[in-house]
Amino acid sequence: MSQTLARPPAGPAVATARTCSIRSLPNDLLVAAAAKAIELNPANAPAVQFAPGVAIEPEHLAVLTAKYWGTGGVHLTVQFLDNPPADLRARLLSHMNAWGAFANVAFSETAVNGQVRIARTAGDGYWSYLGTDILSISAGNPTMNLDSFSMTTPDSEFYRVVRHETGHTLGFPHEHLRAEIVNRIDPAKAIAFFQTTYGWSAQQTTYNVLTAIPNSALIATAQADTHSIMAYWLPASIMKDGIAVDGGTNIDALDAQFAASVYPLAHVAGWHHNDISAGGAPAAAGDPDGYVFELGVDGRVSGKADCNRLMGTYTIDTQTLRFGPLATTRMACPPGSVDADWLRALAATDSWLVRDGHLHITMTGKAGTIELEPAPG
Ligand SMILES: [Zn+2]
Repeated sequence: MSQTLARPPAGPAVATARTCSIRSLPNDLLVAAAAKAIELNPANAPAVQFAPGVAIEPEHLAVLTAKYWGTGGVHLTVQFLDNPPADLRARLLSHMNAWGAFANVAFSETAVNGQVRIARTAGDGYWSYLGTDILSISAGNPTMNLDSFSMTTPDSEFYRVVRHETGHTLGFPHEHLRAEIVNRIDPAKAIAFFQTTYGWSAQQTTYNVLTAIPNSALIATAQADTHSIMAYWLPASIMKDGIAVDGGTNIDALDAQFAASVYPLAHVAGWHHNDISAGGAPAAAGDPDGYVFELGVDGRVSGKADCNRLMGTYTIDTQTLRFGPLATTRMACPPGSVDADWLRALAATDSWLVRDGHLHITMTGKAGTIELEPAPG
């Protein structure tokens, strides 16, 4: 998984029932949309080296700007534009909210003025605008298309397509555009393959498959993930090494980890200490601001145990959250502190899930639970 994007060539986006295009804004909206993205999340700004006397066009910077939402989380309303039946609306929404199991992400349905607007226009393919770009689409127009989706669409396509397009809405670009994957593709074979299979022009294949995301603004998992939900399937026949890129069929562990780092669930303001059932009677709640942790994109955790600071490493996947050895400062906290209990709880974390916007962590052996709420902003 990675952050930042390139812009598609002009002309009609060709998408098919097998693949996806990220929609880009019209040229006259690019600069304002980039400014909006940086306002919402300063990390969206491209890391561009300015050389003396070299001017960089605002449009070029705009194209290099990522489109992540704020680190406080993504809570968006969803409007269905073509009146799908209630069971289909609920099913689509549940797959969109699958990201909420890993990250501070929630989508809720609305009948009017939705922020995410979903159409199912036949023949228009699967596509979404990227992240905060959806704010620049005028009211009533779709921000995502799920070509012909119905209750008879195979369940696997709900996993593969709806979760992928929702990833774009969250700001995630295509994983197969990371240089280490692009460099494995034989350009001539790829152009021929996508021409035959999807009717793409050479220019479209160059943009969709052959143009690596520049590293200048890249925040990403350490290695490209060929099983990411954000990766295309690329056949072995177009790869120089003859090894296919499988592409994703569901949000995988690395996707979950990356989403959790961009929109951290565990950026917490409260520890519900009375939810700890281990060892008998619940203890009194400590000062909520004293029991916090934050999961960094680099796999490091930082936080507090009352009057002490804690630091260390963590691993997270679709089911488990575990902390490596945690180091702390060694202040003696005031009487009544539960800092030792907090550290014991963190050392024993096992499974996790998100319910009603709170992160629930279960300790090994079901010894207890921690419930955490997101920090404001
Ligand atoms: Zn896509």
